[in-house]
Amino acid sequence: MTRLAKLLVVVAMTAAGMVQAQDVPVNCDNCKAWNAPVKPFNIVGNTWYVGVAGLSAVLVTSEGGHILLDGALPQSAPLIAANIESLGFSMKDVKLILNSHAHWDHAGGIAALQRASGATVVASASGAQVLQSGTNGRDDPQYQAKPVVHVAKVDKVTVVKEGDVVKLGQLALTAHMTPGHTPGGTTWTWTSCEDGRCYNVVYADSLNAYASGNFRFTGDGKTPDIAASFQASIAKVAALPCDIIIPVHPGTTGLLEKATGRTSEHNPFIDKNGCRAYADEAGKLLAKRLASERG
Ligand SMILES: [Zn+2]
Repeated sequence: MTRLAKLLVVVAMTAAGMVQAQDVPVNCDNCKAWNAPVKPFNIVGNTWYVGVAGLSAVLVTSEGGHILLDGALPQSAPLIAANIESLGFSMKDVKLILNSHAHWDHAGGIAALQRASGATVVASASGAQVLQSGTNGRDDPQYQAKPVVHVAKVDKVTVVKEGDVVKLGQLALTAHMTPGHTPGGTTWTWTSCEDGRCYNVVYADSLNAYASGNFRFTGDGKTPDIAASFQASIAKVAALPCDIIIPVHPGTTGLLEKATGRTSEHNPFIDKNGCRAYADEAGKLLAKRLASERG
């Protein structure tokens, strides 16, 4: 979600297809471009991109069921479900849906995808609070009093903390708390294997120091100084074992463009410097922001 995104809630439309009850679509400056359909593609081994043009959703598959990461916008849910099915996987086999951060552009589609699959939703404690209440709090740098930005409510959310490993069959995904962009920001890691080699995959949460209104990352008496914890999150992502980074906004690393270069001999997603470069960019933005706050 961009800082200047202007929200207009439009009349809910009846969705055709697999996601029956549609949540209220979000209309923001970038939403139409972000929600353009994308043909799903393999990233590595059992890891697939099933998201839309500007918002990631990732499917990690196994014989014992699948794990989906994020749901993009409410109106992305039918596209994500269709992508999963078009790869030959069944929505009913999606057993877990993990969230990066509880903003409407990454979590907005989760409620509909949960209804379509029956999956359990998993998030950080702070993220779970937003998902279950449908609203973020004043501790969110992008909190807006007017209009309050809603996330389609999710009924039941399982909470994870730093280092927790979420398991499903042979799948094991680790939660890394990376607060800053939101208080509950979570980066997820796992390994995917292909042709006898295994790769460290990082689903990197947003580390961008965007804020709405008068929010200060350095605190203002009502909200705490989160500068140090934000910097620690950036350092944490930079230091992760990382062969392949999948950012929550695929455009950040040109993920979709790279997909065109994928062949059986060459995997353009492999980039051992990807996480460090991603973190470096975020670090620069945060440093600039902190300098301006500190005057
Ligand atoms: Zn966000």
